Amino acid sequence: MTRITVAKGDGIGPEIMDATLEIILAAGAKLEIDEIEVGEKVYLAGNTAESWEIIRRNKIFLKAPITTPQGGGYKSLNVTTRKFLGLYSNVRPCMSLHPFVSTKHPIMDIVIVRENEEDLYAGIEHQQTDEVVQCLKLISRPGCEKIVRYAFEYAKQQNRKKVTCFTKDNIMKQTDGLFHQVFDEIAKEYPEIENEHWIIDIGAAKMADTPEVFDVIVMPNLYGDVLSDVAAQITGSVGLAGSANIGEECSMFEAIHGSAPRRAGQNVANPSGLLQGAIMMLNHIGQTEIAEKVQNAWLKTLEDGIHTYDIYKEGTSSQKLGTKEFAKAVIENLGKKPSILKSVSYANNSALNLPKYKRKPAVKKELVGVDIFVQWNGSNPNELADKVKKIESNGIKLSMITNRGIKVWPDGFKETFCTDHWRCRFKPLENSEINKSNIIELLKNALNENIDSIKTENLYSFDGKAGYSLGQGQ
Ligand code: NAD
Repeated sequence: MTRITVAKGDGIGPEIMDATLEIILAAGAKLEIDEIEVGEKVYLAGNTAESWEIIRRNKIFLKAPITTPQGGGYKSLNVTTRKFLGLYSNVRPCMSLHPFVSTKHPIMDIVIVRENEEDLYAGIEHQQTDEVVQCLKLISRPGCEKIVRYAFEYAKQQNRKKVTCFTKDNIMKQTDGLFHQVFDEIAKEYPEIENEHWIIDIGAAKMADTPEVFDVIVMPNLYGDVLSDVAAQITGSVGLAGSANIGEECSMFEAIHGSAPRRAGQNVANPSGLLQGAIMMLNHIGQTEIAEKVQNAWLKTLEDGIHTYDIYKEGTSSQKLGTKEFAKAVIENLGKKPSILKSVSYANNSALNLPKYKRKPAVKKELVGVDIFVQWNGSNPNELADKVKKIESNGIKLSMITNRGIKVWPDGFKETFCTDHWRCRFKPLENSEINKSNIIELLKNALNENIDSIKTENLYSFDGKAGYSLGQGQ
C-alpha cells in the first residue's frame, strides 16, 4: 500500500481524475489517498500550508491540471510546485497509436526529458528602462548534470538506443553552451547508447517532420515545454500524453495538457493524459504489474476504436464516448492485451536511483571587467560614449557599447536600431587590474555625471577562460 496525494485541480481536472482513479483502483492499485485542494480558488485565497505538508509527507503526488490565474503578480502553481519540491526531471513519452489514432506520423515513439527547474522559468524578470524588460535565463551545472544523467539512465532502463540533445548554443554560448558541454561529458559514460546534438530550430523541425529518427530527447526547460506539446499533438492529441516530474525525494505525475476550461463539466475530456501520468506513478512506486495491466487495457480500448471526441475520427473510430464511459470501457478491458498495437511489459520499470550531484573543486575566478547597463534616451552612440568616458578612472576604460547585444560603439553602423537600453563595457588597461572598489567608483562617477545606471554585471574569467560573451559584431 502506498499513500499518495491527489489533487483534482480545475476545469476538466475533476472529471479526468475521477476517471483515472476509477481505472487504476479497478486494476488493483494499492493506494491510500489523501485528497487536497490546490486549484485556482485555494491559490487565490493563499491558503496552501496544509496542502504542502501533505504533499511533502506522502512524497508521491498525482495532480490534475490547474488553472494559472492570468495577469500580473501570479506565479504558476505548477512551476512553483516543481521547483519547491526539486522535481528536476520532467519525462514526457509521446507515442503514435497508428492506425487507431489518426496521425501524420505512424511511426513515432519518443520520450522528451525536459529540465524542469531552471532556464527562463526562474521567473526572474525586471523592467529596466521605459522600453526594455528582461528575463534572466539561469542554467546551472547541477541542473544540467542531473537532467542529462537522468536521460541516459532512463534510456538505459528502457532499452532505448539513442539520446539526442537540443540546444541553441550557436547563439547562447554560455547557457545552452553549458547544457551541451555537460551532455557531451555525460554521454561518454554511456558508450552503449548513441548520442547526438541538434540545434533546436532544425531539431524541432525535424521532430515535427520525421519524429521516427528520434528516441529520447533531452533539453532545457522552455524548449522541452514547447516541444513536448508539439510531440504529443502530432501523435494525435495533446490529451494523450502524461508526464512524470521526478525529484530526489518527491515526484508528481500529471497530464501534459492544461485544465481546458472550455471543455469543463461536459464529460467530454480525454482522461488518457492523466491516466498515462498515473501509469508512470504506478511504475515509480513499484506497482509495475498494475501499471502494465492498465496500459494494456488502455491500448486495447483505443485499438477497439473506443475514443473520446479529441481523437474520434469517422472511419477509424467505432464509438465516440464521454470521459466516464471511456473509463468504463478501459475497466472492462483490464486483463486484456492489444492485438495489433504492441503490448507493454514493465518488469524493470521502477524508479531510477541516480547518484547525488557532487560539486567540483572551485576553479580560479578572476574579475576582468564590468558591464554597466544604462538608460539613455539619445540615439547617437558616439554621444553616449563621450558622456560615459567621463566616468573612467584607475585605468578602467570604456571598451565597447552595445544596444540589445549588438556593438554600436566603437565603429557602429548608423543603420542599427537602438532602444533606450545600453550596455557599457569597462575593462582595465593592459597590465592593470580591476577590483570591486573600482566598480563602486565607476558607479559613483556615473551618479555624479547624471548617468542613469540600471544594473551592473561583473565580467569574470574562470581558469583563464572568459565567462561572458563578446558583443555581437565585436
Ligand atoms: P489546455 O491544454 O488546457 O487546452 C488546450 C486545448 O486542448 C483545449 O481547449 C482542448 O481543445 C484540448 N485539450 C486539452 N486537454 C484535453 C483533454 N484531456 N481532452 C480533450 N481535449 C483536450 O491549454 P490552455 O487552454 O492553454 O490552458 C488552460 C489552463 O490550464 C491555463 O490556466 C494554463 O495555465 C493551465 N495549464 C495547466 C497545466 C498543468 O496543470 N500542468 C499545464 C498547462 C496549462
